[in-house]
Amino acid sequence: MEAEYNLAAGRIKDILSFLKENDNLDQVPLYVLDVDETIFQIFSEHYRVWEYWIANVEWIKDLGVKSKDWNTFIEGGGSKVYQENFDSEEFNTLNGFNTHSPEFNQGLKLATDLEEVLEIIRPLIACYLTTRPESVKKVTSAELEKNNFPNPNRVICAGENGAYLGGPAFKLRKLQLMKVFFPNRKIILIDDDVRTCQVINEQNDPLMQAVIFEGAATSKKEYPEASSWKDVLKIIAQELEPFYSSVLLQMLSSLIL
Ligand SMILES: [Mg+2]
Repeated sequence: MEAEYNLAAGRIKDILSFLKENDNLDQVPLYVLDVDETIFQIFSEHYRVWEYWIANVEWIKDLGVKSKDWNTFIEGGGSKVYQENFDSEEFNTLNGFNTHSPEFNQGLKLATDLEEVLEIIRPLIACYLTTRPESVKKVTSAELEKNNFPNPNRVICAGENGAYLGGPAFKLRKLQLMKVFFPNRKIILIDDDVRTCQVINEQNDPLMQAVIFEGAATSKKEYPEASSWKDVLKIIAQELEPFYSSVLLQMLSSLIL
């Protein structure tokens, strides 16, 4: 597996430096990254904070949220308690505090292997598309910058309240808008939300695609295409290969004609 990854990483580096030398980098597919659970590991932090509140804050104790939910979360690999409690008022009240809190969104851990993969795919990253609300846009950019992401100020948030439930429609709209600004460029979203990826891929648009990344809340039933960032890199290498061939062909035919 590691050899396969190293091969793909080397290939991406070669292709990108060739395209750069020949001024074709502006044709390359653009990657748009989701933020929560694709870049930053956030659910483990939500539940750590949740557990603290349940134990220490009087009015939250009164909401009746049981601390056993934390154990279910750990045992269920992350997604079970989230799915079971997602629609409850208590869950949303607690989550809402975190969602709008700049402090909460600071210092979150990066997804595994992302730092290493980022160095290789950096020229491909166009922007960040998140259902986070505008209230944490600044801190999101600052954290991306701190972690050495390209274009850290290009964070598209989902308005005053965020768009958790309306996430798939929101992201589809934004990607369609991006297509207007980048005509003939393929735009690819990496996102841990299965429904979002489905909605985008159901469009059957050859210039718009989504890749399911397996985050802590991604349902295992859906067989994510990438269970790690190293898998994402391999998928990107597969995407770049035919693009590189077509650029070569164009160059050759312009020499012949
Ligand atoms: Mg996400």
